[in-house]
Amino acid sequence: MSAVIADSSVATVAPSVRDPARREQKRAFELNKLEKRLVRLTGQAIVDFNMIENGDRVMVCLSGGKDSYSMLEMLLILKERAPIDFDIIAVNLDQKQPNFPEHVLPEYLKKRGVAFHIENQDTYSIVKRLIPEGKTTCSLCSRLRRGILYRVAGELGATKIALGHHRDDIMETVFLNMFFGGKLKGMPPKLMSDDGKNIIIRPLAYNNEADLTRYAEEKQFPIIPCDLCGSQENLKRKEIKAMLREWDRKYPGRVESIFTSFANITPSHLMDRNLHPFASLKVTGEADASGDIAFDEEPCAPAGDIATVSFNRLMKSEIEE
Ligand code: SF4
Repeated sequence: MSAVIADSSVATVAPSVRDPARREQKRAFELNKLEKRLVRLTGQAIVDFNMIENGDRVMVCLSGGKDSYSMLEMLLILKERAPIDFDIIAVNLDQKQPNFPEHVLPEYLKKRGVAFHIENQDTYSIVKRLIPEGKTTCSLCSRLRRGILYRVAGELGATKIALGHHRDDIMETVFLNMFFGGKLKGMPPKLMSDDGKNIIIRPLAYNNEADLTRYAEEKQFPIIPCDLCGSQENLKRKEIKAMLREWDRKYPGRVESIFTSFANITPSHLMDRNLHPFASLKVTGEADASGDIAFDEEPCAPAGDIATVSFNRLMKSEIEE
C-alpha cells in the first residue's frame, strides 16, 4: 500500500478541496451568497424604515472597522441598483489616537473611487485630560465624536448620517439598558439627532455580526484596530454579547425571536403610563382587538396546546356568560 493511500487524513480529503481552482470557485460562490444576503437585508432595512430617499446625500461614517467598511460596500452596491438617486460621501474622524495609520482609509477610498472627507480633531487628548486613568473613556469620547460628526454633516450638506451598527449591537444595547438602566430602549434603525438637525440611519440593522465579520475577512478590508486609544472594550457589553451567544448556541431561534419582538410591541400590555392611558381607561362597550382577553394564551405553550387553548376558551366563555 502506498504511503499516500495509507494516510487516512489524506485519503478522506475530497479531490475538489485539494484542487486550488475548485477551492477558489467554491470560495467565490460562498462569498457571492453571503454578499447577496447582506445586500438583501440592508435593502430591506432601508425600505422598511424609509432610510434613504431620492436626492439624499448620505454621509457614511467610516471608522476603519469591519462594520463600517461593510456598510460602505452595501451602500455602494445598492446605489448602483436602487431606483432612486442618492450620493455617498465617506467620512472618517481622525481622533489622533497614538499610532493611528492615517494613510489607510484615504488610500482605500481613492482606490475604491469613493468621495471622502477626513476630519482631524484631537479628541484623544481631551478624553485623556478629562477622564482619570483607569476609568472608561468611551462615553465622553463618543459624545465628542457625535458632536463633530453632526457639524461635519452640516458642512458637507449631508442629509443622512449612516452608522455601521448591526443587529447584534442593537440587541446588546436593549439588554444593557434593561439590565443596567431599567429601561426598555435600544438603538433604532432611524432617528433624529438630539440637536434636531440630522437624521441618523443604521442600514445594517438587520445584519448579524457573524456575517459581517466573515464578509470583512473575505473582502480583506484594511481593518484599523479599535484599541488604539488604550481603552478596554466595555465589559458589560462583552458580558451581554457572551450571554446572547450562549442563548443562540443552547436555544436556536431564541435570539431571532427576541429581535423580531422589537418590532412587535404592544404598549397596552406593558407598564409605561406615557405610552398607554392606563389611568383614564374606561369601558367602551365596543370590541377592541388589542384589548385583553382576560386569559391570553401562554406564549410558551406549544402551538395548538390543546389544554391551554381549551382552558382559555372555557374561561372566556365563562366570563362572557
Ligand atoms: S474605544 Fe476608544 S476610540 Fe472607541 S469610543 Fe472608546 S475611547 Fe473612544
